[in-house]
Amino acid sequence: MTAAAYSRILLKLSGEALMGDDAYGINEEVVSRIVSEVAEVNRLGVQVGVVIGGGNIFRGMKGAASGMDRATADYMGMLATVMNAMALADAMRRVDLEARVQSALRIDQVVEPYIRGRAIRHLEEGRVVIFAAGTGNPFFTTDTAAALRGAEIGAQIVLKATKVDGVYTADPKKDPAAQRYHRISFDEAIGRNLAVLDSTAFALCRDQKLPINVFSIFKPGALKRVVMGEDEGTLVHS
Ligand code: UDP
Repeated sequence: MTAAAYSRILLKLSGEALMGDDAYGINEEVVSRIVSEVAEVNRLGVQVGVVIGGGNIFRGMKGAASGMDRATADYMGMLATVMNAMALADAMRRVDLEARVQSALRIDQVVEPYIRGRAIRHLEEGRVVIFAAGTGNPFFTTDTAAALRGAEIGAQIVLKATKVDGVYTADPKKDPAAQRYHRISFDEAIGRNLAVLDSTAFALCRDQKLPINVFSIFKPGALKRVVMGEDEGTLVHS
């Protein structure tokens, strides 16, 4: 048994989280630190699904802005998330944390396809499941994939790992008086025009009454504190 507040979580890691302070790509040191935090939570008996972004490699919007067909650029973005997922799973393997990558786009020679029942089975057996290729559809984001997979696997919460340790009243980098929201309801977040997740993802979580905890993945021990139900980052609730 576990003393954790949640038994199954969906962790959304942006591609940028894997980049650290680099300008592009995957920083091995940062990845292994994130992996050790996930491993710690996994050892508590918490089932962990991860949705990984791709922004450290390619973003569809950027491709479209430079003249590419948007859908093509988005498929490239989704493929970028597969590379990140593979790097993350490999870093997990190196510390004996069992992980499986499931992709929303089929690349069967490389990773498993997304199969909900099988994903749940992996989770029940203590394996981390890394959901790659977002939702598998262009014009969406990996935030939306996190909300979708979170709802599908019956996660009790979506943990949105960012660079900032929560949702603030203003940009804390620009305004020293900015205050962190400890808890906020979905309605209040909408009323205050706070961008917690992108709008599609946010609407899905709200409809499904799936809470979101925004926290900093760069703050050591923060992931565990969130999972233990401590006041860390910002909890968005129904
Ligand atoms: N993407 C997509 N559909 C999805 C998820 C992602 O088309 O369901 C594409 C989109 O082009 C996006 C890119 O993949 O820009 C990388 O994902 P995202 O920007 O969400 O990554 P993050 O910002 O979390 O690193």
